Amino acid sequence: MILTHLGAEKTVTGSCHLLQVKGLNILVDCGLAQGADHCLPIEEWPLPCPEIDFLFLTHAHIDHIGRVPELIRNGFRGEIITTHATKALLSPMLQNALSFQDMDKGERSKILGSIDELSWGFEYQQKFDLKNGVRFSLGRAGHILGSCFIRFELDSPSYSVVFSGDLGARNTPLVPDPDIPDPCDFLVLESTYGNRRHEDRKDRIRKLGEVLTHALADGGKVFIPAFSLGRVQELLFEMDRLFSDPKWQEVFPDLQGKSTVPVFLDSPLGLRITEIMSSLSPYWDKEAQRILRKGDHPLDFDHLYAVRSHHEHMKLLEMDGPTVIIAGSGMCSGGRIVDHLKAGLKDPRNDVLFVGYQAEGTPGRDIIRYAENPNRFVQIDGESVPIKAGVHVLSGYSAHADQDGLVEWVQSMPKKPEQIKLVHGEPAAQKGLNECL
Ligand SMILES: [Zn+2]
Repeated sequence: MILTHLGAEKTVTGSCHLLQVKGLNILVDCGLAQGADHCLPIEEWPLPCPEIDFLFLTHAHIDHIGRVPELIRNGFRGEIITTHATKALLSPMLQNALSFQDMDKGERSKILGSIDELSWGFEYQQKFDLKNGVRFSLGRAGHILGSCFIRFELDSPSYSVVFSGDLGARNTPLVPDPDIPDPCDFLVLESTYGNRRHEDRKDRIRKLGEVLTHALADGGKVFIPAFSLGRVQELLFEMDRLFSDPKWQEVFPDLQGKSTVPVFLDSPLGLRITEIMSSLSPYWDKEAQRILRKGDHPLDFDHLYAVRSHHEHMKLLEMDGPTVIIAGSGMCSGGRIVDHLKAGLKDPRNDVLFVGYQAEGTPGRDIIRYAENPNRFVQIDGESVPIKAGVHVLSGYSAHADQDGLVEWVQSMPKKPEQIKLVHGEPAAQKGLNECL
């Protein structure tokens, strides 16, 4: 078996691993690198794209699927294997990624058509024959809806490999907890938060309630940069709890009542993904299904508004607070959040609430770093913007397992893996996790 990392070996974005076994060339993920992260250009890969037999996708985040169009453009015609939910999310997620590339409409729809033709959704926890005696199975990774870890196994010689993909924390809204993996000889493990511990889920709803109460008291706006897939729906879920669950209504009375602040989802992609996620309720976790059965849609509440057109977005920019605005991109490197930050960061009544990982070199990371600086400026979209708004980081929102979660997941395996290779993490995180493991 030969394993070559084509991206995200020592960074968090750009996941792409080549597994060569039994004469098969298998790619696991084909993601886009973000910020200062770097992945190997396709021209420098050890083999041409038409020679790749299979592409497995662990989940539909852009840093795991963003280069699939490029792969197809370069002649890949193998099968794309993933879960049913990820297959449903592929096209809308890629449509957005494609729009950043210099392809005309015709080529874009041709490539999306090929992806749809080549991709197959599979059930969790079943073994399937791939080819040449290699079998695979997909386990729930608990990261976002549809996310999976992948286990390959072969008989002669007997050997097994697990790719963790991105592993989620337990008790993530909507998403079932990670499955316990079957034992393996070789584990390729993500390490995003390998040196960190998150706040627990309860604390994070409370923190969200506290930050919103505090931030909205002076009539300002709260900007929440969020990934369209996963984080947006988690936020909606927990805001729905804050606004609809009598227990939380009691804790945060200022967030309730007639004066309830409007929440705008200013993200066409986030809206589309939320609609698709709503249609995938059989894949939700038990808690979300229970809320739905009780007649409360867990991703919707009275004062939640969809901002679809550019015209509506421009009107929202001029609107006064108090209000909450959720917009992409999650690391502030593009999308509608950029307009909101350029207009709103200089107002001390406003607040920015970070709920996701901010890669090195992204404006999001810079805002967090410079907010502690007396000379608070950030470069966004070529403009130098003073940071007068409050800046908050809610670490408990990460869709990734923290150090304890990663170690527990490995410990839950019935037998220790012979070897573990850490990927998908910055060097400090990998060092921390390595020592702990
Ligand atoms: Zn992910």
